Amino acid sequence: MRDQFGRSIEYLRISVTDRCNFRCIYCMPERGIEWLPKPQILSYEEITEVVRQLAPLGLRRLRITGGEPTVRPELARLVGMLRAVPDIEDIALSTNGAKLPQLAEALRAAGLDRVNMSADSLRPTRIAEIARRDLGFNPVAAAQAATDAGLDPIKINVVVVRGINDDEVEDFAALTLERAWHVRFIELMPVGDLAGTEFERVVPSDEVLARISARFGALESAEGPARGNGPAAYHRIAGAAGSIGVITPLTHTYCDTCNRVRLTADGRLRTCLYGDHEMNLRDALRAGAPLAPLFAQALANKPREHELLKLRVGGLKALSEVGG
Ligand code: SAM
Ligand code: SF4
Repeated sequence: MRDQFGRSIEYLRISVTDRCNFRCIYCMPERGIEWLPKPQILSYEEITEVVRQLAPLGLRRLRITGGEPTVRPELARLVGMLRAVPDIEDIALSTNGAKLPQLAEALRAAGLDRVNMSADSLRPTRIAEIARRDLGFNPVAAAQAATDAGLDPIKINVVVVRGINDDEVEDFAALTLERAWHVRFIELMPVGDLAGTEFERVVPSDEVLARISARFGALESAEGPARGNGPAAYHRIAGAAGSIGVITPLTHTYCDTCNRVRLTADGRLRTCLYGDHEMNLRDALRAGAPLAPLFAQALANKPREHELLKLRVGGLKALSEVGG
């Protein structure tokens, strides 16, 4: 599967719900989000059918995301169904981690390979402020539960927001000293309630890395985790067990190596995180039509790069709408 610019597309991010048990200040507004009506949401059988039809075309890697995927009941059942599709080599989950201690074992047993967990603070009060919910989320305990269940690698995603959690960059980096976790710092993208404030709020990745090396010494460049290397560039504190990554949608775009497309919870295929390049797969699926021609058409229109820097207030209401 190649797009119009010759990029090989082998990775699908599947949003299984637009709902979430958090309301992160940088992702969702507190109010005013309309949830998708249930009949519009793809069933697990329909999601699996999309994957079954795309696997022969070259689809190899899946990520289950949302919204918060763990709020959808029986997520492990979906993992098991996707695991049974021939040629799928890698199944990952993006989660806010709140339910990981309860679910990690069952997800692993169903065939999940690995997890990316979001964590924006290590301080309980601040976690609740950023998430606008207090679910008693403990990031270190949640990542440890995933490690203990055998999920590997463990990536921890931190959205760095100036004035909100940028004073914890060094604390997050310190998590990699003893544990083989991969902590990735993400530049804030201008969506949701913080859209329009990115110039004050974005902490460029070069600044993040400079702060870490000021504390821990010069960073080595690192390979990063063996599986699932996406848009992050990796570094390592000398002698550390884990690595430090930066994801830089704003300061260094990586669209030329983009290998992914997205499936929204209601069955739209999005070929770019930003922009309106969408194809409704759900109606074709429910009508029993083959998806391969639609997929080929969507790839032929996949844009060369995202238009994030052109978007301002009034763009996406929430990153959760399109699966992050
Ligand atoms: N609920 C899951 C989670 O939080 O990991 C999966 C969905 S979430 C939309 C996917 C990723 O998008 C998370 O790592 C989250 O931190 C990130 N994200 C959300 N809003 C963002 C923003 N405005 N800028 C940068 N990253 C953002
Ligand atoms: Fe929910 Fe994830 Fe968005 Fe936070 S970043 S509101 S956890 S979807």
